[in-house]
Amino acid sequence: MNWKLLAFVSAMSAAVASAAGAQAPDCAHNWRKVDLREIKVRGEIGRRIDLTIYGNLLKIELENQFLNHFRAKKLGGDSVGTGKLIEYAARFAAYTGDPEVLRLKNYVVDELLKTQDADGYIGCLREDSRLWGYWDLAETGFIILGLATDHHYFGEKRSLAAAERAADYIIRNWHTMPEGWEDAYISGTAAAVGLCWGMEMLYRETGNRRYLDFCTRERGLDKWYAPVTIGRAHGLYGHSATHLYQAIVQLEFQSRPTPALRRVADEAAAFMLDGDGTLVSGACGLWECWTDDQSARTGIGETCSTAFQMRLWDLLVQCSDEPSARWGDALERTMYNSLFGAQSKDGRKVRYYIPLEGERVYYPSDTYCCPNNFRRIMAELPEYLFYKSGDRLFANLYSECDLVTELEGLKVRVEERTDYPTGGRIEFTLNPEKPGEFAFLLRIPGWCEHPSLTVDGDKVDVVPGTIATIRREWKRGAKVVLDLPMKVEAIAGRQRQTGRAAFMRGPVLYALNTVRNGGGNPSSVIDGASHMLTAEEQKAADLRAFFSKDPADICGEMVVDATSAKVVRDDSVRPGGTALEVRASTTGHAVGVTDGNGSTILLTEFPDCEAVATYFRLLDPSLAKSDKLFTGENRKEGDKPCTK
Ligand SMILES: [Zn+2]
Repeated sequence: MNWKLLAFVSAMSAAVASAAGAQAPDCAHNWRKVDLREIKVRGEIGRRIDLTIYGNLLKIELENQFLNHFRAKKLGGDSVGTGKLIEYAARFAAYTGDPEVLRLKNYVVDELLKTQDADGYIGCLREDSRLWGYWDLAETGFIILGLATDHHYFGEKRSLAAAERAADYIIRNWHTMPEGWEDAYISGTAAAVGLCWGMEMLYRETGNRRYLDFCTRERGLDKWYAPVTIGRAHGLYGHSATHLYQAIVQLEFQSRPTPALRRVADEAAAFMLDGDGTLVSGACGLWECWTDDQSARTGIGETCSTAFQMRLWDLLVQCSDEPSARWGDALERTMYNSLFGAQSKDGRKVRYYIPLEGERVYYPSDTYCCPNNFRRIMAELPEYLFYKSGDRLFANLYSECDLVTELEGLKVRVEERTDYPTGGRIEFTLNPEKPGEFAFLLRIPGWCEHPSLTVDGDKVDVVPGTIATIRREWKRGAKVVLDLPMKVEAIAGRQRQTGRAAFMRGPVLYALNTVRNGGGNPSSVIDGASHMLTAEEQKAADLRAFFSKDPADICGEMVVDATSAKVVRDDSVRPGGTALEVRASTTGHAVGVTDGNGSTILLTEFPDCEAVATYFRLLDPSLAKSDKLFTGENRKEGDKPCTK
């Protein structure tokens, strides 16, 4: 492979160590996520999961979109995502125990297995394109993963046998891959995304090492390295999702841990946290590829990338001795804004990109990468709330939920009661089946200035941006109360957004829905000059005209008084949600924010389906604070990480 490309290297190595935090020498998977069958998540995370299952998964048209291509096997190259469908359907079925979800999963498995050829091939390409054809390895890799997952949760032996036959087909025919296939259209990394995941899962389910050996011998996974590259170069070289995939699968690859297996992950983490690689919404990338200029329009934050970013933060926790709070902060920032913003209000539609500025459009189909990767990450979310390591239990994400798990043989039931992220008060009731010692760890977000923590009323000292540890003997009914006061902050834009600010409260970002603020179709705007309008009518007409402009003009012209921000209850984006009322000047002439004639503007939570703008000018720019998550102490003055 040709790695002689624009490289993002200098200024990175220093940042790597700090961003990665406490480093384990290898990925020994010190922390394990709780099993999704042990938890029931409610609150906003639970609602979004349910919306994905009942508003989307169960409404998918399976035959034409997900099955007929495999029955016909006539494509020259394409990505459908039926393997991913099996994987997340199995997870959702295991999580909900809902017979309807189980029936869907079983039907897809039944129908797909009927299409497997005698030689083991299971895919949708015609014979002359198999393996090397566009996305075939990825498609089959995810089918192996999905079938092995089906075996993992439901003990389906026929699924495991079919996965083995599919994997054996690839291994047996690998020598037929044409010379240069890795550079033919997209990079070999992208073309085979998911393949080693499938092989690794198959190894876990069968214990057969040949599947792991394939990943090292044929895929060179234990030696793979590429720097973070800005922009799309050489096929999909700078592709953020597949770059992160390599990092993740290297971290997951436990059989031969070497320090080299952390390098890609650590450099990607450093770029995202300290290299301006992540937007305020938690999204990364422009047109699927890494960028650090904080572009806000068009192809921002591919949903696939969003999902892989979240997996990286998860894997770094798993591979650490002491997790960094920053990883959890990044995870929740991305989840509450970029990820949830990719979902339509009824859950039926999913976005490919989620720009901060300009119209957000939905992807027209249920297949291909983003819709499937969206559903996949939603099926993983129940496991992202708690981690276990020995006799330690770690709460990383907060949402109302119930957990029943075991810590070294001690069964513990945890009840978590909160309306987070509306409020920051989180009450845990810990119920060990008998009194027992264990450690309870909690992420104290870096955004919270004055957190407080009590155990049965006794105060525990906590520091923002760290992990709090409470070790003691716990008795049934112990109460742990974490209070994370949230205040509205204007967050200074970086790079291209310099001079503007976005509004946040806790992990939640706010954005402008112009329709909600009186905008409409520009052609319907009243021409004030041709009518004799009352002052009120004139103001409404001005507002309608203003909010019918191009979002770039709105962002440039609207001047917000940051001191005026007021939190109000707003159910338009989520039940029990919030919005901000701010005073702003909204027209290019005459109406100033300070003279009493400014307008009260409503900023809704970022996932608002009709939001079109996120950054605004401030009346007093000095009130904008730096984004602590992405401009931490690790970042030095004038340190420009991008070296092009
Ligand atoms: Zn995608």
